[in-house]
Amino acid sequence: MIPAQFDYVRAKTLDEALSLLAQSEDAKILAGGHSLIPAMKLRLAQPQLLVDIGRIKDLTYIREENGKIRIGATTTHYDIESSDLLKKICPLLPECAAHIGDVQVRNKGTIGGSLAHADPAGDWPAAIIALKAELVAVSKKGERTINADDFFVDLLTTALEPGELLREIRINKSNGRTGQAYVKMPHTASGFAVVGVAADVLMDGNSSCQEASIGITGVSAKAYRAAGVESALTGRKLDEQTAADAAAKAANDVEVNGDLFASADYRRHLAAVYTRRAITAATQRAR
Ligand SMILES: Cc1cc2nc3c(=O)[nH]c(=O)nc-3n(C[C@H](O)[C@H](O)[C@H](O)COP(=O)(O)OP(=O)(O)OC[C@H]3O[C@@H](n4cnc5c(N)ncnc54)[C@H](O)[C@@H]3O)c2cc1C
Repeated sequence: MIPAQFDYVRAKTLDEALSLLAQSEDAKILAGGHSLIPAMKLRLAQPQLLVDIGRIKDLTYIREENGKIRIGATTTHYDIESSDLLKKICPLLPECAAHIGDVQVRNKGTIGGSLAHADPAGDWPAAIIALKAELVAVSKKGERTINADDFFVDLLTTALEPGELLREIRINKSNGRTGQAYVKMPHTASGFAVVGVAADVLMDGNSSCQEASIGITGVSAKAYRAAGVESALTGRKLDEQTAADAAAKAANDVEVNGDLFASADYRRHLAAVYTRRAITAATQRAR
């Protein structure tokens, strides 16, 4: 339970953090520390240098600009959970944040750290995928934008390159009759998602689904968009039968995890149940 030796620098600016990351291949970013420190204590991670970005003020913000929601990487889960702006314009984000761990975890853990960590049972990936977010990565070489669909590559693996820092999450503000929901079956001990489903639906004047976006976490090695569910909803009247038929496709085309807590068959079943609940809740909110 004692980590290997490491050096520690608290970066004062983003530029200082990027320079430190560029200098050492064995450096790791420290944000809230709620995933990295436990991994270091188990020696699953043994970075030689920790670059603490937790005090870089201009990485913590929630803004609405030109139809886009912009969230800085070190914004904590609690900042998002308690944001009046987000409750109004993107309620899926505060709802998802409220499901994460406990108060202590939400006060320290950051959205950027959670996304970069890419835990297969983490909550944020489902919401970020469902919202079709763009993730802004920056390094000494410059800046680039990665679509949420392309960001999660595999178990604990993202599209971030060595030396890159996730700086910002950008989400298009929704227009029209939209409804959003995040539902989750938490692991009873850790609180992580056995299954977590985020739904964002856009309805037309006849209560038919114009567009649906469904992000699922906990089921497979990485969070994914449930394309089969989305196409089964699009163009249909959003009633209980449509939701149930579409939700049955929740774990199609993915390799489903099985473990001591939930077998693959049980998880597949839960994926359908929670997807139906997410669609139903999102639909009710869009009305
Ligand atoms: C008891 C407990 C319960 C929890 N329950 C849940 C839960 O129910 N749901 C859930 O989703 N999570 C849960 N978590 C995890 C929690 O949400 C963490 O906060 C989160 O996974 C990591 O965020 P962090 O800011 O602590 O990142 P850190 O631990 O500081 O970093 C995690 C990883 O991301 C990298 N990193 C951090 N920031 C950046 C960045 N800006 N750019 C690039 N790389 C970066 C680090 O180098 C490290 O590899 C729980 C954690 C604990 C300890």
